Amino acid sequence: MPNTPCAVPTCSGRGGHEFPKERKRCNAWRVAIRRVKDDTGRSWWPSLSDVVCSEHFITSDYQQFGKSGVKLQRRKLKPDAVPSQFSWTKQPTSAVVSRTNRYTERCAKREGTCDRNSDELSLDVDVDLDLDIAMVVNVNSEEQEVHDQAIQTDLPETLPASVSAHTQTDSGTKVQGFTIHDFKNDPKGVHYYTGLQDYLNFMDVLASLGPCAFELTYVNGKRPSLSVPDQLFLTIIKCRRYTVNFELSRMFKISKSEVYSIFATWIRFMHLQWREIDIWPDSDLVSFYAPSDFKAKFPSTRTILDGFEFPVKKPKAPAAQQVTFSTYKNRNTAKALVGITPGGLMSHMSGAYGGSTSDRQMIERSGLINKVNKGDSIMADKGFDVQDLFAPVDVTVNIPTFFKNKNRMTGESVARDRKISSKRVHVERIIGLGKTYKILTQPLNHTETILSSDIAFICFMLVNFRKCIISR
Ligand SMILES: [Zn+2]
Repeated sequence: MPNTPCAVPTCSGRGGHEFPKERKRCNAWRVAIRRVKDDTGRSWWPSLSDVVCSEHFITSDYQQFGKSGVKLQRRKLKPDAVPSQFSWTKQPTSAVVSRTNRYTERCAKREGTCDRNSDELSLDVDVDLDLDIAMVVNVNSEEQEVHDQAIQTDLPETLPASVSAHTQTDSGTKVQGFTIHDFKNDPKGVHYYTGLQDYLNFMDVLASLGPCAFELTYVNGKRPSLSVPDQLFLTIIKCRRYTVNFELSRMFKISKSEVYSIFATWIRFMHLQWREIDIWPDSDLVSFYAPSDFKAKFPSTRTILDGFEFPVKKPKAPAAQQVTFSTYKNRNTAKALVGITPGGLMSHMSGAYGGSTSDRQMIERSGLINKVNKGDSIMADKGFDVQDLFAPVDVTVNIPTFFKNKNRMTGESVARDRKISSKRVHVERIIGLGKTYKILTQPLNHTETILSSDIAFICFMLVNFRKCIISR
């Protein structure tokens, strides 16, 4: 529509390109233009007629040639084009050179004066608190929007092969380190560093965090020099690869203390934002997405439970040592309860507790009992002998009978056990995927231990954004 005002805040242009129909690409545009609803300050969605004017695109966003190789007369956007030119990104060209110099100087100074000791200190926050209390974050979200279907249903499309090599324009004016924008056409790279499928999948994750991502208050009180997408990129890389801060500081060309500030800020932020999402789907939805053989054998299953442990460094305080010591793993661990739907979506997660916590205690504390409905059933491993907890709400707990009365097993119960075990494999696979985020496999330092509830939840939420691994 030639006369429709451009949707970009502060832009007075008219006419332009309609938002992509495909949701992921539309999200990438929404994130890029940074628009929020005026009245509520919440995420803004374009209508069918909304446009972004051509001012916000660069030459390489347009296709030069048609399919037949003929030069196009009318300018047509490439399928992966995302608006990138805004009042907040533009720099006056005359000032570019001096600005670059200043930036380089600043970087050099930061590296030079960055006080190693203060950096170390901030990492070494003392955990004398009761771990239990420090770890459990309570976010009561009553009025929740149902976003789960958005997460569950949308499978990513492969990027069109015709997309030409990435050409960056004026970002050359900055000292550019590692950036997610270099991975637009590198799904393997995105997967390696984030566990996500591709660039659009990554932008989807960013979009799910809403416009607040641009308004964070940072742990060190300073706005980082990294762009918001790259702050998220750094945070996920640390979860995925457990890259040490020193290495991240070199990759992104920022100081080590800035890496720490970004990571700690984003972990808190992502956790709080995503806890607002109701990831516990209604029974109908759970059953709709359940694999068919599951529906036949255990139709009322609402969730499949399992606990998982992840290592932490031995705390200094003896009490915390005791709380985190897992006799099962014979080392200091934190532990959380995770529930997945038969369809393979993480739908319930407790906070992280010390490794000495029993499965039963985790269930009691995680609030699961308030989520289930009469007639539901829960599937769990043999350690979860918790039928008595759920009996008052009329919920069945299906656990293999194996060790209850070892000597006398009827043929029927053996068959039932086999069925349960084969279904429980789903939860183990999801936990396996969660643990592809290496941060959950290496002993967390003290600061990270404080954040461990958040970290574990975030890693499993990231798994939810991936393509479903369970066949229907
Ligand atoms: Zn515009």
